[in-house]
Amino acid sequence: MEKGPRWDGVGTDEGAWAAWRLADMEPLDALHHLRAVIVAPHPDDEVLAAGGLMQRLAAAGAELIVVGVTDGEASHPRSPTVTPEALAARRAGERRQALSALGVVPTVIPVGLPDGEVSGQAPRLARCLEALLAHDSLCIAPWEGDGHPDHDAAGRTAAQVCAATGSPFLRCLIWTWHWATPGDERVPWGRGRRLDLTDAERDRKRRAVATFESQVAPLSDAAGDEVILTAAMLAHFDRPFEVFLQ
Ligand SMILES: [Zn+2]
Repeated sequence: MEKGPRWDGVGTDEGAWAAWRLADMEPLDALHHLRAVIVAPHPDDEVLAAGGLMQRLAAAGAELIVVGVTDGEASHPRSPTVTPEALAARRAGERRQALSALGVVPTVIPVGLPDGEVSGQAPRLARCLEALLAHDSLCIAPWEGDGHPDHDAAGRTAAQVCAATGSPFLRCLIWTWHWATPGDERVPWGRGRRLDLTDAERDRKRRAVATFESQVAPLSDAAGDEVILTAAMLAHFDRPFEVFLQ
């Protein structure tokens, strides 16, 4: 996740999205793959955007691979209580707990690019993806316009590698739900596909998201330790469905 210049303010209320036509989108039909490679710029992006899809793919027998692009060490750069190294370790533990709560057992591949600087080191991510995307692999990565520089760079890189390898590419949305508005012309809604979640899938996703304590709660009461994922932001990921761009 990680905050940045496009995410000031309260963002678009989930009620506005609920009142729009997301529920009328065509259903997602991309669940017949031997392997799914989920590109997560920061630890938690994969669960927020695709925690339901990961469960569905695993149930269908797909091998899951989570590509951890960064360790997420820069979510609280002014924290007086937690060092970047300690934060990275904490977030790795939260990810393990979250994936366990989802009931999936992916292989997690840490790429270790610097948090906030994925764009400058995109070739390293590209080489990793080139090695993984083969043999009927589905790639899931943030949409190139999601609005966080790391998300956009990871999405661009994934799109390029998918085009070169002929791999199907599914784009997920994270910060888009915050800065965009229903009908926003900057978002290619026509490519939107919806995955309805069962109550059990939604419940597991909810429990998985809650394990990211360093993001969903303040690190402390001190300035610099503020919460990253507010209740208003988290509401976007508690829907009974997930949306992807094909
Ligand atoms: Zn992120």
